[in-house]
Amino acid sequence: MALVVQKFGGTSVATAERIMAAARRAIRARKAGNQVIVVVSARGDTTDELISLAREITDQPPAREMDMLLSTGEQISIALMAMAIQSAGEPAISFTGAQIGIVTDSFHTKARIKNISTERIRQALNKGDIVIVAGFQGIDDEYNITTLGRGGSDTTAVALAAVMKHDPSGNGDAGCEIYTDVDGVYTTDPRLVPEARKMDFISYDEMLELASVGAGVMHSRSIEFAKKFNVPLQVRSSFSDTEGTWIVPEAEWMSDVVVCGAAIVRDEARISLDRVPDQPGISHKVFSAIADQNIVVDMICQNVGSEGKASIGFTVLKNELPATLAVLTPLAVELGAAVQHEEEVSKVSIVGTGMRTHTGVAERMFAALSAAEINMKMITTGDIKISVLVNKADGAKALRAVHQAFQLEKPRAGAGLPGPRTQQAAFQVRPMNHLEESGRDLAAITQRLSSMEDIVVSDVLLSTDQGRITIFDLPDRVGNCLHVFQAVAAGGIVVDMIVQNLSAAGMAQLSFSVPLTDLERARKVTEQAVRQIDSSTRVVAEADIAKLFVLGVGMRTHTGVARRMFGALAARGINISMINTSEVRVSAVVEKSKGEEALTALKEAFNVV
Ligand code: ASP
Ligand code: MG
Repeated sequence: MALVVQKFGGTSVATAERIMAAARRAIRARKAGNQVIVVVSARGDTTDELISLAREITDQPPAREMDMLLSTGEQISIALMAMAIQSAGEPAISFTGAQIGIVTDSFHTKARIKNISTERIRQALNKGDIVIVAGFQGIDDEYNITTLGRGGSDTTAVALAAVMKHDPSGNGDAGCEIYTDVDGVYTTDPRLVPEARKMDFISYDEMLELASVGAGVMHSRSIEFAKKFNVPLQVRSSFSDTEGTWIVPEAEWMSDVVVCGAAIVRDEARISLDRVPDQPGISHKVFSAIADQNIVVDMICQNVGSEGKASIGFTVLKNELPATLAVLTPLAVELGAAVQHEEEVSKVSIVGTGMRTHTGVAERMFAALSAAEINMKMITTGDIKISVLVNKADGAKALRAVHQAFQLEKPRAGAGLPGPRTQQAAFQVRPMNHLEESGRDLAAITQRLSSMEDIVVSDVLLSTDQGRITIFDLPDRVGNCLHVFQAVAAGGIVVDMIVQNLSAAGMAQLSFSVPLTDLERARKVTEQAVRQIDSSTRVVAEADIAKLFVLGVGMRTHTGVARRMFGALAARGINISMINTSEVRVSAVVEKSKGEEALTALKEAFNVV
């Protein structure tokens, strides 16, 4: 007997009629011979209304009481859902997060799950009940009610499927269906780009990157769970019976798709710390202070230093700007650095498995933006993602430009392939889940996780076959970056990591890595290219760099990753001169002579043997 977790979002339980429809769906799955767990969100706009209600009382509601309040929304839904199922003649029982034993840490309003006990759920399921669980909530060690952050019911659903799948008393067959008001995952937000199309399949990594860069279909952390615990997921409409989008392990055919989707985060803020001493340990200090406040740092541009000073640029969500500045301001005074920030910025990203194997993707993105007269304030790349920061006013235009440049509106082979594909077809492929890839026993890993939402790092790698080109003081104008990359591409040189940041004087600093064997040529073509822009722009080529990659899941949303990484290197006096972060990979550049030592330090820090 298979186990199905069905999650119904707020709109899917907004009215009595919809609750009845959801109840019928659960009953159908039960009658088809499955054990069924239903996870529900608060009805309609209940959560928003509760937040407004609290604000009518006080500007700063205490987080603990906020959780007490917010958790009531889901409690209403579970009771109504249980009544609906029972009235249709099927046995059902509802539970709050606390009753079912969803234990979290104590970070109110953004708590993380530590563990879930399966006993009570099993008992009820074995009795034949449909089990209904309140999404989004848990309880900490002190019996305080906690919530998992907005949209957190997805995470509850996938986490339940994960524990049930790996529970020794089950048979390992568990999946999760997310019922929502859209019929699947789209190539981008159809409200901003009407040509956007539904994807049939997307890999966990692609979905993780897309969710983390603003595709609001699902809570990022739920995908993280799905990947970590190999839970097959489907996002589909609660209003129809059409197949939705399957989120599955990576398959070989997916690499034919260079870019599968594009997304935007509209409300970011850019912070730069200029004139920071270029010494080991400084970044650690900065990012650990921010991580201590549980603030997620997004794009990080750690620039190459010159004259003993470096600059660190990064973005945070705009609503976390005040808290971030409160931490940084005293720190900057201590370091003799200057803090600046900018609020009206948006981040546009493209994502696709095919980026691992195809070249020229960045250049194509930059060309599209340049043709649309959009200036790029920051650039960072991951292995399946490229993000650029633009003026907020240009955000939607930038998204449309890249969607068009990669022809995402067209039916494509691979992830976007239209037409009937069965679940079977999706799973015939060899799963390339990194946990299995590295030959480790998933169940053992599951058990080792003291906390379910811990970072899972699967590997740390060192590469010393790349060199770096850095351009200092490139005038910050539309098309300048593109000009450089076109010149490099024309020379047949493959660019890997790209980091661009702005310095205080409105100058851009651009670094990128190229194969060592092409370094000298890359320097020449870059020099020629920048000379056409501004004769005072400097180009430096370095052969003595080492790149380190930390591979895993949930690398970016866990505030602790960058901290642990910087900490481990700082403890050995190793300076990081460039860094890129994404959900599935963090890359850092250090001095070549320190490469091996850095590798050892990171393996130790992340417990990789
Ligand atoms: N009701 C919560 C919210 O709106 C959780 C959820 O919907 O997933 O954020
Ligand atoms: Mg909701």
